[in-house]
Amino acid sequence: MGKNQTCIYAKKCGGCDYQGVKYEKQLAMKQKTVEMLLSDNCRVDNIIGAQNPYHYRNKVHGVFGRDKKGTVFTGIYQQGTHNIIPVENCLIENETASQILRTLSKLVQSFQLKVYDEDRRTGLFRHALIRVGHATGQILVVLVLSDPVFPSKNNFISALLQTHPEITSIVLNVNQKRTNMILGDKNIVLYGKGYIEDRLCGLTFRISPQSFYQVNSRQTEVLYQKALEFAGLTGTQRVIDAYCGIGTIGMAAAARAGEVIGVELNKAAVDDARVNAKLNGIKNIRFVNGDAGKFMVKIAGAHENADVVLMDPPRGGSTEEFMEAVRILAPQRVVYISCNPVTLARDLKVFSKKGYRAERIVPVDMFAFTEHVECVVLLTKKRR
Ligand code: SAH
Repeated sequence: MGKNQTCIYAKKCGGCDYQGVKYEKQLAMKQKTVEMLLSDNCRVDNIIGAQNPYHYRNKVHGVFGRDKKGTVFTGIYQQGTHNIIPVENCLIENETASQILRTLSKLVQSFQLKVYDEDRRTGLFRHALIRVGHATGQILVVLVLSDPVFPSKNNFISALLQTHPEITSIVLNVNQKRTNMILGDKNIVLYGKGYIEDRLCGLTFRISPQSFYQVNSRQTEVLYQKALEFAGLTGTQRVIDAYCGIGTIGMAAAARAGEVIGVELNKAAVDDARVNAKLNGIKNIRFVNGDAGKFMVKIAGAHENADVVLMDPPRGGSTEEFMEAVRILAPQRVVYISCNPVTLARDLKVFSKKGYRAERIVPVDMFAFTEHVECVVLLTKKRR
């Protein structure tokens, strides 16, 4: 798993809770957290750790700042402030992406472009977001600017590509709002296709700037394999992939299912998902753009059936509405993927009242050096 490395930003950055803690110890701490929160449901399996806990993040974000001497840098916001802490070498971020961030700072400096000031609301360069395809090596650079017009744009892009010929696409994202959201709504493709593609579980996925994509690709494959094992598919089942993002889990399940329906709130992600199904020649999957809970209520009301429900909600967890609809739909299995054991614990209690028992709980470490921990849970319908 590589020699222990130390981070020089740990004290100020606050992004990693476990800097300076040996990886084995981190895993043990996460195991304990999950057991504390969830072991009254069933025994918790041993956490599946990463082979290499460093430089796993395929999505890297930098805020542009300028120091007292006027030097441009990228970094992260100090928690709860508009102060930007310069970060040059992050131990968990993809290293090529970190290099690109450093080049961007130099270029902004040499082209004498203005860095955005959050308090005064002046300046142009706000953020850079970089996505790297783990398997394909494709790289998307998103420049988040306060204005679509940017002086010496063509020369800037040429210089960037000259230093980093590995970049496959550059997008200008316009964010004029006073907001802590990184991306605005408008994307202008400056170079390449405007998205990256990556491969997961033998399938190819298109990922747009706005779409959710798991940040640790290697561990995502481990996670999905567990989820599919728990789904117990034999080729005939009707599967719902709720909170499906760009359709990754559902598409991995489709080859072993009769039919898959993905449901997702984010329009850009659903657009990607539909393209992805075509790209992979998967015909037994379709996608619904909307709230997962409302969709479940609708199909439950229409007396439709489902054999397996895969669900992967955001940190806030699922809703009473969603879980009540699951009770009515009465699938044999529910596979719950969670990135927050606190809301997972809350939701498992609700599921228990709805007649579903947790049979297996497996923590997977997707976020080394942070306290975040992912879990996959197999729930089955209790016999009456
Ligand atoms: N299963 C996917 C995405 C998981 S992240 C993957 O593994 O990549 C959670 C997803 O839920 C995000 O794409 C988010 O846009 C979506 N989401 C959030 N709230 C939702 C809701 N109420 N209904 C449907 N999808 C929602």
